[in-house]
Amino acid sequence: MPLPEPIMDARNRPLRDLRISVTDKCNFRCQYCMPAEIFGPDFVFLPQHKLLSFEELARLTRIFASLGVGKIRITGGEPLMRKDLPVLIRMIREVEGVHDIAMTTNGSLLARHARALKEAGLDRVTVSLDSLDEERFGRMNGRGYRVADVLNGIEAAAEAGLGIKLNMVVQRGVNDQDILPMARYFREQKHTLRFIEFMDVGNSNGWKLDQVVPSSEIVRMIHEEMPLEPVDPNYFGEVATRYRYVGEKTEIGLISSVTQAFCSTCTRARLSAEGKLYSCLFASTGDDLRAPLRDGQSDEEIRELIRTIWEKRDDRYSEVRGNATPDLKQRAKVEMSHIGG
Ligand code: SAM
Ligand code: SF4
Ligand code: SF4
Repeated sequence: MPLPEPIMDARNRPLRDLRISVTDKCNFRCQYCMPAEIFGPDFVFLPQHKLLSFEELARLTRIFASLGVGKIRITGGEPLMRKDLPVLIRMIREVEGVHDIAMTTNGSLLARHARALKEAGLDRVTVSLDSLDEERFGRMNGRGYRVADVLNGIEAAAEAGLGIKLNMVVQRGVNDQDILPMARYFREQKHTLRFIEFMDVGNSNGWKLDQVVPSSEIVRMIHEEMPLEPVDPNYFGEVATRYRYVGEKTEIGLISSVTQAFCSTCTRARLSAEGKLYSCLFASTGDDLRAPLRDGQSDEEIRELIRTIWEKRDDRYSEVRGNATPDLKQRAKVEMSHIGG
């Protein structure tokens, strides 16, 4: 069957990708995402009955696919904290039109699950790792997890045959000294490392512009030691600007959400673990899909609801961040751990 034509938003951007957060829980407490002071022992996470079930997620995936979505990313919180995740992957794999299933994970539980995830149909993983320095990594993840926990996960994923990319959030004065060691290590391993500019997501990470290390600075730094050449984008809406090491296939990527916003090609919708649909990472509210799912609305009714939400989508927070009104900057935003980046 031919793929359905994608639906377009108010800025002429097609809906192509769906990011599904399967849990709001995480075993890490990264300062830039779930600071321990706020997400402490008394923090109340979503109870099980408020999470969308695997059946509900599979049903929504089918509806999104019928609207032209072909790429699914599983995220969280930490997605591997959700029990039986391979069962969900298998259900999504069966959805007609879905041609790519990826997962973003902190990697700490990956060694245990990589094989089952691959067998269930997961195509690739993006593993987040901010430092190879034991002390800094332990401090950044807020829970003393070791670098080896993540590296073992990456190795298991490679052995299982999953595609692998790395994400490193760079914060000036926190882990900028890790840029070159990370680049050297993953060049050697032949994995793509992507540098992410520290973003003002959520309301609790104490974001300041001077903590952002611009991608241009990162490229310059790496290029001086290991010459780079630009690589053309693969497709419309690719978020990372890519370079390869001269004479090699190995690439790096730069996700410059602050210094070079890419809202004009943003094709992603985000579903929180409790079933709210967000049209932007910086949105303050989402549209509830759980009630319609549980109130007996038909697939057709839910499809029309999603279509209406997308067609009126006008978000471009990162493009206007620089000159945004104080009102827009101060408005409450959804937490990253709710919608998974
Ligand atoms: N727990 C998983 C992980 O860390 O990979 C998935 C969820 S996490 C919210 C998704 C991605 O968002 C991670 O790569 C993380 O590093 C990134 N992230 C979280 N907070 C961020 C921030 N303030 N700025 C930039 N990236 C951030
Ligand atoms: Fe957890 Fe990922 Fe957020 Fe870190 S970035 S606290 S690993 S959800
Ligand atoms: Fe997309 Fe919103 Fe990020 Fe712009 S700010 S790229 S619209 S998620």
